[in-house]
Amino acid sequence: MPQYLDPYGQRYGLQTYPWGVAWIVDDDLATKKQLAAMGLRPAGQEPAAQLMWRSRRAKAGHPRTALLYRISQAKPKREITAAMTASLQRAMRARRTCPTCGLVFVYCLPTSLGECPNCAEGTTPESWELEGAAA
Ligand SMILES: [Zn+2]
Repeated sequence: MPQYLDPYGQRYGLQTYPWGVAWIVDDDLATKKQLAAMGLRPAGQEPAAQLMWRSRRAKAGHPRTALLYRISQAKPKREITAAMTASLQRAMRARRTCPTCGLVFVYCLPTSLGECPNCAEGTTPESWELEGAAA
């Protein structure tokens, strides 16, 4: 078996792949650094595997390792709180509310008009355009 390849974790106690091979075997794996680049964190999960590679700087017989985590079990770096969701929903609703007629639309109003197309054109909104369809 090639050096640093231990797909069953028999030699190193953890599934071990040389750098680059891990993603051929299992593309759900990522290092902490790679997770961070995706805006994720391991979120307390046990490492699923590890990378092992020979470093030019390291002394002979001391390969470098990096733990691999499951992307599917990773969590967003920052938990989305209820307050954040509510504030986002308010912001989205404001963009769908016409300041002229006060109606809430199912789509975001064009910012170029500053009001709904119906107010801009003097027409009556269709029921499908309105949120809740309670026209
Ligand atoms: Zn309007």
